[in-house]
Amino acid sequence: MCRHVGYLGPAVSLAELLLEPAHSLLEQTWAPNDMRGGGTINADGFGVGWYRPDGAVARYRAAVPMWTDESFRQTAADVRSGAVVAAVRSATVGMPVTPGACAPFTDDTWLFSHNGRITGWPDSLAKLATRLEVVDLLTLEAATDSALLWALLRQRLAGGEEPDQAVRDLVCEVVAAAPDSRLNLLLSDGARLIATTWTHALWVRRTETSVAVASEPFGPAAGWVEVPDRCLLVADTADARVTSLSELSMGER
Ligand code: GLN
Repeated sequence: MCRHVGYLGPAVSLAELLLEPAHSLLEQTWAPNDMRGGGTINADGFGVGWYRPDGAVARYRAAVPMWTDESFRQTAADVRSGAVVAAVRSATVGMPVTPGACAPFTDDTWLFSHNGRITGWPDSLAKLATRLEVVDLLTLEAATDSALLWALLRQRLAGGEEPDQAVRDLVCEVVAAAPDSRLNLLLSDGARLIATTWTHALWVRRTETSVAVASEPFGPAAGWVEVPDRCLLVADTADARVTSLSELSMGER
């Protein structure tokens, strides 16, 4: 299973957030602690998305192991942001290894990442996919479950659904169509982090001015709290709320 990180707070360099801490996302590339969903390392590419001071999204992705990318190391030392979503990838068997398959996905407003896999892919989601416009399918960034999840979520967001409800409803409909899927999702608009746990780990750490979520804790061990399985986390720098997903059906809160 891939690993992801989300951060909101005072501006930090991408290196301070992702490369330098103890058990950083970089270290989780070759030495993850918790690959319960399969795989051993996260070397099939990586991506980092961040919000600029004017609110615009910038992104760097590459289909190489993060530790091999010297250009990223230099960029990461210079780029600072107060809102970041990053991921390292362990491609699900049969899915392509390309930059377009690496999270975070974006539409210039949102950043989205998925740890997990859809069981029975692609047949299990064929019916859900018919809800998309043909052009959405033709412009999928990669033939992967994660890219399709992003297209389905983006459609909900574009339709005006509240982001936490959109994420909740997406998990609900995918679980109904493809039981036993692993669906740890992470969405940000630069002001909120919305994340799910559905059969994989997620941790959250809050300080007075920041919030970080991560598949595996990094940096100082103190302050990390594990989010229970089958939950939705909605966090900003002031608050973090966890609600259960397991009893919900579509549209309920
Ligand atoms: N299934 C997704 C992919 O192949 C995510 C993989 C993962 O979480 N390991 O990109």
